[in-house]
Amino acid sequence: MSAEHELVVLNPATEEVVATLPAADAADVDRAVARAAAAQRTWAAAAPADRARLLRRFADVVDAHVEELAQLEVREAGHVLGNARWEAGNARDLLLYSAGGAERLLGKQIPVTGGWDVTFQEPLGVVGVIAPWNFPMPIAAWGAFPALAAGNAVVLKPAETTPLTALRLAELALEAGLPEHLFQVVPGYGHIAGRALVDHPDVAKIVFTGSTRTGREVMERCARLVKPVTLELGGKSPNIVFADADLRTAVDPFSFLDNSGQDCCARTRILVQESVYDEVRELLADALSTVVVGDPADEKTQMGPLISRQQLDRVRSFVPDEAPALRGSAPDGPGFWFPPTVLTGERHDSDAAREEIFGPVAVLLPFTDEADAIRLANDTPYGLAGSLWTRDLGRALRVSRAVRAGNLSVNSHSSVRYWTPFGGYKQSGLGRELGPDALTAFTETKNVFISTEA
Ligand code: NDP
Repeated sequence: MSAEHELVVLNPATEEVVATLPAADAADVDRAVARAAAAQRTWAAAAPADRARLLRRFADVVDAHVEELAQLEVREAGHVLGNARWEAGNARDLLLYSAGGAERLLGKQIPVTGGWDVTFQEPLGVVGVIAPWNFPMPIAAWGAFPALAAGNAVVLKPAETTPLTALRLAELALEAGLPEHLFQVVPGYGHIAGRALVDHPDVAKIVFTGSTRTGREVMERCARLVKPVTLELGGKSPNIVFADADLRTAVDPFSFLDNSGQDCCARTRILVQESVYDEVRELLADALSTVVVGDPADEKTQMGPLISRQQLDRVRSFVPDEAPALRGSAPDGPGFWFPPTVLTGERHDSDAAREEIFGPVAVLLPFTDEADAIRLANDTPYGLAGSLWTRDLGRALRVSRAVRAGNLSVNSHSSVRYWTPFGGYKQSGLGRELGPDALTAFTETKNVFISTEA
């Protein structure tokens, strides 16, 4: 088979082959979309309570397979075991949350002259979800499950490096009794299967997560068909640390090391008030030296490998050997390893301080006062997430409103909860996933006026 006809999934911690599978081409996508369209019509006609019941059953089946899914994620994506278990649990919880939404997809009754007026939230049809490799299971779930709950069918294209958990989720959906072809996975290459999904006239919406560059192309191609699109793209999120903060918690290195830094919400710009810069530098140096990097299947490991040789080369290109930096350690030998690193000699307009590196690398930059912190935080084409740390409530309120990003945390590094909306400002994306309005993003609003004068 030629390279374009198969996917070879590698374990990023060992470089051993985990699986080889056929890659879907445009004809496979076409067939999947046709089957999905037929399944969707029946699904949309089913009672909301029946759809909800089946999705809850799907959640029960995922729950029974959390450990299996987590182990698969460790092997194909190199995630540390604790994170992988959280990810499988997140998929289960989102199913339960979305199932409730199926029964609460409310319209409005609007006061009008000469009749009654009501709105309906109607499903779109077939939704295409294109997922990346950094969080294969949760990101597939965030696109697919609310879409299913709203009465749509889903065709999901996972990343070429990490198709296995998505394929397993689709098997579990069938085991739970979801109709055949309602939730299909087409493992394949982005420029072939991904593009075919984007260009398909019977795919009513695309949900894309990945790089800003590919997201821009997806949006351009959707524009030709006036196809709606949700984009979750890159980030270069600030961690703003004021001098009065609890410094040790504020500079927790896992704010940028989680998932080896392959996280669009990673706080990779550590902005520190200059009066505590030296103290923070020392705290970070100590913290990096204790991070346990190694076999992701070992319960004690805190950070695993990068996803691929290509990603390792990209990360290395931002960190020359002679760059002033605080450095932790990483294993040698097979696997795509890079040590936890904080660059200390960057200007805020250097490449390392501006571009999404997507590895365990942050930059440490000083600021003078509140206005300077806000200016630096906003001086980026991205606007996905960010943290700010201070004990001054007024400042916390002012800065959280002034930073132009979709997901801000005060005295916390958390970004993602399935109960709350998630998405970016500026070139970090378009639209929102998760939260109470997640299902609405997979519907059209229909307005019906009923005359009382006929
Ligand atoms: P991409 O954006 O290229 O890939 C994301 C998904 O899109 C994958 O499923 C990919 O398939 C697919 N895809 C690629 N090209 C097309 C296309 N023309 N049409 C439709 N779908 C397509 O990201 P990369 O994997 O190349 O990663 C590069 C960088 O992107 C990272 O270093 C990081 O900075 C950023 N990134 C950001 C993410 C985020 O969460 N915001 C997630 C992943 C990456 P395939 O796997 O075959 O390429």
